[in-house]
Amino acid sequence: VTTLAGKKVALFGLGGSGFATARALKLGGADVTAWDDNPDSVTKAAAEGIHTADLRTIDWSVQSLFVLSPGVPLTHPKPHWTVDLARAAGVDIVGDVELFVRERRAHAPDCPFIAITGTNGKSTTTALIAHILKSSGRDTQLGGNIGTAVLTLEPPRAGRFYVVECSSYQIDLAPTLNPSAGILLNLTPDHLDRHGTMQHYADVKERLVAGSDVAVIGVDDSYCEIIADRVERTGGKVIRISKRLTLADGIYAEGTKLIRAAGAAMNPIADLDGIQTLRGSHNAQNAAAAVAACLAVGVSEDEIRAGLASFPGLKHRMQPVGRRGNVVFVNDSKATNADAAAPALSSYDRIYWIAGGLPKAGGITSLTGFFPRIAKAYLIGEAAAEFAATLGEAVPYEISGTLERAVAHAAADAEKDESGPLAVMLSPACASFDQYKNFEVRGDAFVSHVAALDGITMLIG
Ligand code: ADP
Repeated sequence: VTTLAGKKVALFGLGGSGFATARALKLGGADVTAWDDNPDSVTKAAAEGIHTADLRTIDWSVQSLFVLSPGVPLTHPKPHWTVDLARAAGVDIVGDVELFVRERRAHAPDCPFIAITGTNGKSTTTALIAHILKSSGRDTQLGGNIGTAVLTLEPPRAGRFYVVECSSYQIDLAPTLNPSAGILLNLTPDHLDRHGTMQHYADVKERLVAGSDVAVIGVDDSYCEIIADRVERTGGKVIRISKRLTLADGIYAEGTKLIRAAGAAMNPIADLDGIQTLRGSHNAQNAAAAVAACLAVGVSEDEIRAGLASFPGLKHRMQPVGRRGNVVFVNDSKATNADAAAPALSSYDRIYWIAGGLPKAGGITSLTGFFPRIAKAYLIGEAAAEFAATLGEAVPYEISGTLERAVAHAAADAEKDESGPLAVMLSPACASFDQYKNFEVRGDAFVSHVAALDGITMLIG
């Protein structure tokens, strides 16, 4: 970060992105004072030569900026006094995305910058766009909420493409966010703990598209529909996308086909049929958004089609990892509750389902509609008995106990089933902590058990 060289900057929150931000500010010559409630984080920062001090004790009148980590809510009881001190001294409060936006404006205002938000599908859409850009040979930087802090990416320069996933928190702290293409996928009640009301949550998300050169908005829910109309009325350029409506203008899905409509012209632009990583209507929404954003930054239709077809998918999210005969093995370890497992269960017709772990309230009672698709269930972890009771007479099941046994048994049963395309799928509808450190470790274990099967062809490197 060069735009704050020689300036005093206060920073609160030394988690992953906060740390990266402190480091980037220091490298760029800013005089940073960092703090966190966690003494270990403070010690770690100090060991790296970052100046640390309790922000109650610093002179706020000389600070140029207050950088708040996006993990720290503005209304959080702990840092509220820092926020109050900053406000009282008239110091702007921003997050790392805002610092990136300022860098871009200062050094390469024309470099394509795609920002993605929404309630669901952010990471998939972000990864898909980055994949299309990369596979067409473009210099592509991928970061934000998806994992890599924006300030650890290569610095903005002409011709470099940025694809940045933004949480509401990051948008909240980025007052001058102005992407070349901004995507708002969908809005459903979620994360209301920080934003208080759905309306406030929607208002924050709207800012991302309102500030975009081109706004790509999913119009399948009423909040987004209203936002699209408003952005357009106030002079914004809007591309509407839909997974279920026939649009007069925009990009919509008709089954697996994506259609580009402009006035009277309707052109098929891609077909997702057979693309394992983009199954399901939720992915049609993600793919339509990716297509719209890529077109907006000058990617050709051929390049887009090639990128969609070769998308490797995100790890642990409905990720096809292996194949044997007519059986595909799918890692959906990220599905840590029943709602998250629903899209995967709706995306395959006949499933050998591995589920269980540390159960959440409600268990799998909300998934009964999918039971007819389940050939057999293989139950693991602490949830096994509870899930067995819910499955009851409706679905054959076994208590496998461990993931290793579940994979072996499901693979053997699926091998004997000749009824067409089948999936052996880990979509546990549970947290992993009873047997694994986290869902990533659980997903990796699934992959290694699959890789050990006789005659398996792995689909991932
Ligand atoms: P996010 O980054 O917004 O959490 P992800 O792309 O990681 O979203 O997807 C997480 C889960 O959300 C997926 O496994 C799938 O179950 C569901 N999902 C993905 N895309 C959508 C969408 N467009 N609409 C609704 N649900 C979706």
